[in-house]
Formats: sequence, C-alpha cells, structure tokens
Amino acid sequence: MKVLIETYGCQMNTADSELIMGILAANGFEPAHAMDEADVILLNTCAVREKAEARILGRLTNLLPLKRLKPGMLIGVVGCMAKHLGHRLIEQVPYVDIVAGPDQYRNLPDMLRAHAAQTRVDFDRSELYSGCSPLRPKGVTAWVTIQRGCNYVCTYCIVPHVRGAERNVPAAEILDEVRALAKQGFSVITLLGQTVNSYIDGDVNFAKLLRMVARVEGIEQVRFTSPHPCGFSDELIDVIATEPHVAKFVHLPMQSASDAQLKAMKRVYTFEEYSNIVRKLRTKCSEIAISTDVIVGFCGESEEDYQKTRQAMIDLRFAFAFMFAYSERSLSIAARTMKDDIPAEVKQRRLAEIIAIQQDISKEIYASYVGRRVEVIVEGFSRRDSMQAMGNTRDFKTTIFERGECEPGDWVEVEITGATSQTLKGNLVRIVKKGTAPTIETGIDVGISCGPAEPVA
Ligand code: SF4
Repeated sequence: MKVLIETYGCQMNTADSELIMGILAANGFEPAHAMDEADVILLNTCAVREKAEARILGRLTNLLPLKRLKPGMLIGVVGCMAKHLGHRLIEQVPYVDIVAGPDQYRNLPDMLRAHAAQTRVDFDRSELYSGCSPLRPKGVTAWVTIQRGCNYVCTYCIVPHVRGAERNVPAAEILDEVRALAKQGFSVITLLGQTVNSYIDGDVNFAKLLRMVARVEGIEQVRFTSPHPCGFSDELIDVIATEPHVAKFVHLPMQSASDAQLKAMKRVYTFEEYSNIVRKLRTKCSEIAISTDVIVGFCGESEEDYQKTRQAMIDLRFAFAFMFAYSERSLSIAARTMKDDIPAEVKQRRLAEIIAIQQDISKEIYASYVGRRVEVIVEGFSRRDSMQAMGNTRDFKTTIFERGECEPGDWVEVEITGATSQTLKGNLVRIVKKGTAPTIETGIDVGISCGPAEPVA
C-alpha cells in the first residue's frame, strides 16, 4: 500500500511523520508520490489551538470526494487531535478509518492491514520508539526527538493531556543516531522535546547532551526546540556560548510579562527570572538571537497585565515571535477551572498591536544585516528557482542567495544585500568549508507534506 502523510502542527509532528513513514516502510508500505496514487492518507494532527483542529476537520471534508471515488482508500487521523477527540472523531467524521494517538504508531501497520475502523489512543509511558528508524527526506537537516511528553501543567495547554508525561530517550541511543546521521551526510541536527532542557538521563543533563551532540564528527550545527525558562541553567548558557557547532539561537517561550498572568498560566517563573535568562544569554554570547511565544487575552488578563507584555516585547527585542490570542482548549486546566473572560475584540486588538510591534522590530533587526558578510550553512535549493540556495546563519536567519558552486552542507560566506522581516538576501562571496555530500539513498522526497506550522507549545 502507498501512503501519504500530511503533517500539521509543530516540529515534533514533522519528526513523528518521518517516524511513522519509517515504521510503515519497515512493514512493506511505500511513500506515495501524490494524493491520487495513495492507498492510505494519514493526517498527522495538532490540537494546540481550536483553529488547528478546525483546519484538520476542513481538510477531512475536502478528502470526502476522493474517498467516494476510491472507497478502498483508508483515511487516518493520527497525533494530538486523534488523542484529544478519540472515538468521537469517527462519530463526527464516519469516513475516517483509523484514529491513532502519539503512543500508538507501532500499531499502525496492523491497523491499516485490518481494513476496519479502529481507534487506538491509549498512552504508553514506556514508548520511546527505540529501534524504529524514521524515514527522513534527503538533505542535510534532521530532526532528532530526544524527549516525548511533558511534566509541566501550564493551565492553557493541552499537550500533557494528548502526549502524556515526559520520557527521555537514553543519551547513548541519541548519540548513536546522530553519529549514523552524520555518516549519511546530515550535518544540521535539531534536538526536539516539549521542554527539551528538562532532558535527563542518569548524569547526562541537556547541557551535557547538547555538548556531546555538537562534538560528533561531521555535525556542523545543532539547534534545539523548545526549552522552558525553568531550568535554563548557566551550564546550558555556557554550552550555547562556547560550543562552535551549537547555533547561536534560542527559542524561549515567554507567554506573558505579567507575573499575575504567569502565575495563572502556571508557568512557574517570574518575568524577572525570564528576563535574567535573556540578559545572561546576551552577555555571554553577543551574537545570540532569541525568539519567543506570546499569548494575549488569557483568562483575567487586565489592561495592565497586557501592557507589561507589550512593553517587554519592545524592551527585549526578540528576533521573531509566535503570537496568539488565547483560545480555550477542552481538557486543559484553564478550560475546566477558569473563565475565558477577555472579549474577542480585546484579544484581537492586543494581538494586532504586538504583531505590529514585533514586525517593526524584526524588520529593523534583519535590516541591520544589510551590508554585512555572514556565514551560512547551505540547507538546500529553492523549489521555484533551482539557481537559488537557501541556508541559515549561525544565529538562525534564513538566507537566500545565488547558489554558484555551493552544495547542501557547505559553509559559505554571503554578503547581505536585502532583508525582509523574516529573510535575508545576498550574494555568495566564497565557500568557506565544503560539507560532506549527503550519501543517504533511502531518503524520501515524497510521501510527507506539511500543513501550516504551529509552535511546539
Ligand atoms: S506549554 Fe509547554 S511546558 Fe507548558 S504544559 Fe504545554 S507543552 Fe508543557
């Protein structure tokens, strides 16, 4: 059977789609090149916001004509929304055949072969998918999941309810995987976890693991997402500042700058503690770029609370931010115990204001690169124009330039000639260091596609 996976949501889901495709390929399934060739369509879903779920329900409606044309085709919903809605999903959308939660992917081959409607969404606290090899797209960048689930209880968040408690992949397994990836030509690694810096395996904490991964031969850049401000240690800041192969970039969710709101959200840090981490990162590592997540309009957010967040965005000058108006999620603590009491128009006004502020800041930051020469690791070529290369600077600024003689995996020097609020444009000056050409033959460039991104949490 040929399988197509559409991925919605955060990078954890992107990595899970590769894992699912790996599990299915090991069981005789093949990636489909296009929708009309697929015998199985899996939507790997997100439940973080109501909008994300609504989008997936809309997508399922769009798939109905195809299902009518090919009645034998199986449609599956996997991931967070599958866990969130469980059997209600098949009741609501009767032509969905398979519903599988994030701990049930090993069962997918059997579920698909059974050709009967099935729902499996139980948690399995021991499931780390050891021994399963993700089927990754060809290239030089690879996601490596080092942790599943989350032990925090942020009141607005549904993640612990759909992904379960935190579990960490043994450090030895992670290092073996990274070494194998380096041999296949993957030189840019992103370590993934819901609260990645709470990683622990015996005496290996996240700072130590990050250092070890960054020192694997053949690895040129290591990124990680998303850390929690709690436990963002001096040791970790030191590793980021001193390890040349660790990206000079941190995505550090702030959510609010009001201590009252942070308390209501159960974020377990104060704004002062958050800003201290930002300050230390910038003191120890002058080239660091920091991005964030912000929620406005959470339960009880007064105008004064909001103004603190607005001011913090101006003062802390994030490189970019994912910003949202609070939307209630069933199962979350807030939905059960708090009142979603901020009028929609107030939420939208606050959101529009901070988006405008952040756009101006991002534009200024990106514009400040014009005229500079920066080092960029080449990650691929533009699909629209194969003469254009795409890569990222050491501080994770996406950069587009004429490809010249460079290849994915090379470090190149680029002179920046233009910028938007999200991208740098420039001219290739020289190749600084040749990369290892990707040798992976089994990688796929079909079978997995992406819906709109959502942040990790
Ligand atoms: S927001 Fe992040 S840290 Fe908080 S409960 Fe959700 S996943 Fe965990």
